[in-house]
Amino acid sequence: MTEFELIQQLTRGLPRTAKDLVKGVGDDCAAIRVKGDRCLLVTTDALIEDIHFKNNWQNFESLGAKALAVNLSDIAAMGGRPRFFLVSIGLPPQKAGSAAKKIYSGMLKLAARHKVILIGGDTVASPKALVISITVIGEASQNKVLYRNGARPGDAIYVSGTLGESAFGLECLKAGRRGKIFSPFIIRHLLPSPKVALAKKLAGLRILTSMIDVSDGFLADLGHIADESNVGYKVDAKKLPVEKNLFEAAGKIGANALDLALSGGEDYELIFTVRAGKISAFEKYVGKTKDKMTRVGVITSNKRERIVLNAGGNKAKVRRSGFDHFGAKHL
Ligand code: ADP
Ligand code: MG
Repeated sequence: MTEFELIQQLTRGLPRTAKDLVKGVGDDCAAIRVKGDRCLLVTTDALIEDIHFKNNWQNFESLGAKALAVNLSDIAAMGGRPRFFLVSIGLPPQKAGSAAKKIYSGMLKLAARHKVILIGGDTVASPKALVISITVIGEASQNKVLYRNGARPGDAIYVSGTLGESAFGLECLKAGRRGKIFSPFIIRHLLPSPKVALAKKLAGLRILTSMIDVSDGFLADLGHIADESNVGYKVDAKKLPVEKNLFEAAGKIGANALDLALSGGEDYELIFTVRAGKISAFEKYVGKTKDKMTRVGVITSNKRERIVLNAGGNKAKVRRSGFDHFGAKHL
């Protein structure tokens, strides 16, 4: 069973009809209408020792920052502004005091940068693994929130930043490769930077039709947009934004940069679609802004059509398609 099948089984038949519930299970955040056109956005994500991280891979400060960053990224994915957060922390006895303080130090620095305020949590003992679970509450105006289900045939598919680096950083950590050429990728894996400001700007343009953040991997997350929107896609692999150093560094440990860009997780970039009639206007906008955004494909009407074209314009074979908690091997 995959992670997604399990979530479906657990959440099937939930009442989803509350008047003020705009979006329940199935997106990056839940959306709840509060007053006028205001919406609360709520999301939660946990990091578990030996599943999401190994203790000797990073210091506790960066672990704390990452635990918050991945949640901020889900608020970004909806086009919202993060406001408040709660932290539940499960500490093995030998780590209780000093580790927790360092985790909080890293987390609160990132919180200050994004002006999000810690409003509560829970502190418990854990027999072995360190666990950090965070819930973030954000806000947005209802008519600007971007969901996974708004993509329509003909919409252009864009991705922000560059792909594959975090997954490569993880490969380096697993392989014990720490040289100078590898360290930027390792840092990107350990300290992701959520695209909150960019996402808010994009939502404000009012010409996007869907958005998601890249946590499971480009194809897996674009797949979530396709599933929820009932559409297919055609992506041009040679257009994927891949940092040129990644090709060289990946070659050194026998990894494939393009596979990492297509299927590697945790880039925390944004995948979004732009309404068909507004693509040239958006291209002009992209030309003027400093934010890197790349048009990589198009949404199609056949929901079974999920095509990646290789450099020769033929259908590419994709080796992996993203991270799944119950389908993948862990660290
Ligand atoms: P993301 O990668 O953006 O954090 P997930 O893949 O973790 O999203 O979750 C997909 C959707 O399923 C979200 O709406 C999330 O809230 C919901 N979900 C995940 N696990 C559970 C669960 N155990 N019970 C209820 N809803 C869940
Ligand atoms: Mg997400």
